[in-house]
Amino acid sequence: MSVAESYRSDLEAAYRARTPASAQLHERAQSTLPGGDTRQSVFFTPYPLFLDRGRGAYVEDADDNRYLDCSNCWAALILGHAHPAIVQAVAQQVARGTAFAAANRHALDLGALLKERLPSIDTLRFANSGTEATLFSVRAARAFTGRPKIVKMFGAYHGSHDDFEVLRGIAPRGIMPTASDHVLEVEFNNEADVARVLDEHGESVAAVIVEPMMGAAGMIPAKDSYLRHLREETAARDILLIFDEVITLRLALGGAQELYDVRPDLTALGKIMGGGFPVGAFGGREDVMRQFSPLEQGHLHHSGTFNANPVSMIAGHVALRQLDADTIAYANRLGDRFATGVRTTAQSAGVTLQVTGLGSLRNLHFTPRPPTHAAEAYAGDDELLRLLHLRLLLSGVLCAPRGMFAFSTVTTEKEIDGAVEKVGEALQDLRPVMEERARRGDQQP
Ligand code: PLP
Repeated sequence: MSVAESYRSDLEAAYRARTPASAQLHERAQSTLPGGDTRQSVFFTPYPLFLDRGRGAYVEDADDNRYLDCSNCWAALILGHAHPAIVQAVAQQVARGTAFAAANRHALDLGALLKERLPSIDTLRFANSGTEATLFSVRAARAFTGRPKIVKMFGAYHGSHDDFEVLRGIAPRGIMPTASDHVLEVEFNNEADVARVLDEHGESVAAVIVEPMMGAAGMIPAKDSYLRHLREETAARDILLIFDEVITLRLALGGAQELYDVRPDLTALGKIMGGGFPVGAFGGREDVMRQFSPLEQGHLHHSGTFNANPVSMIAGHVALRQLDADTIAYANRLGDRFATGVRTTAQSAGVTLQVTGLGSLRNLHFTPRPPTHAAEAYAGDDELLRLLHLRLLLSGVLCAPRGMFAFSTVTTEKEIDGAVEKVGEALQDLRPVMEERARRGDQQP
């Protein structure tokens, strides 16, 4: 058995000993959910953790183990769990009714707040997920321009609908084979690449969609000039620029578009704007969004049983009102503190580890340099990240399995320092594994 295999086996044994109730629930899940899973991003081996409760910065699993939550539902919660103001507002609304086949006033409050904070949004519509938000943004762009093609960044995740499942020019099983005909992938942060693709295909491209900081490939921020370059290249060709800010809205009151000072034509939103409830929204230029107005002849169809349901709307509005510039700055400082701490601890452990990201959103990479696009991130050692994740769980720190951290405003600096210390201990533990992998040429130590 290799050092890595034996270390994994020790970690798994410790995990099994610590989480028997999760093991049992996972066993039960086998007969209901394929593979015992219904959300791939929270699945990991030997079996996923079952969480029962969350309060503030902590969650508790089915065995009552406590974890500092550094994932916060994959960045969807920024005020931590069960924030009193949200609990109170939602409880009141639940007692008044959770869903109506009619409009409700809370959607107007949330919509007005988003419009105020994101000046690129003239009007917007609500949906139930970030997936729907990007889907309808793309549909709006195609309808507005009358063009079929979409340009996306290689390795980006915008939800799981057909267009965005195309990878390396191939539509995977289950996706319409023709999807790959109208989805073009470019390398993130590579200005020449997007210029080349737009020179070749520009006349049939409806939109370029981009996250200002690439989440799925591991929190890779856009270079300063990149988003401006995209803005200029798209505007020159009457192509719409869509920002997917499903994750990055939490970085500033006006999202990452405020940080980068670039105004997209459309923005897709989700996660934190629902205050912990299912939500999505897409909005932007009035002339593009007008296509959805039922008052317009031949308008685009957009509906959804739970669109703008009063619970998600009031939760989102209360959450965003709690989140002012100071609280956002605080969460961002926590992320900076974590990044600095982990870099220092990795250096003193003699480990080559990168911490990417901005503000409250961070990702670890076992790569020689901070990746600037997805292919560089994919070249990192994924197994080391998975081992680190499991090791951190055992010491009471919950991050996303691929090494992603999203901090909440209810976390203290002391808790961040504690998490850094746990990362340091985990890296010390992992050293023999890294040395073995370096000897085998899998990875630089
Ligand atoms: N866009 C980005 C950047 C995301 O990170 C996600 C989800 O993680 C989505 C879109 C899809 O959002 P949802 O999971 O709410 O459908």
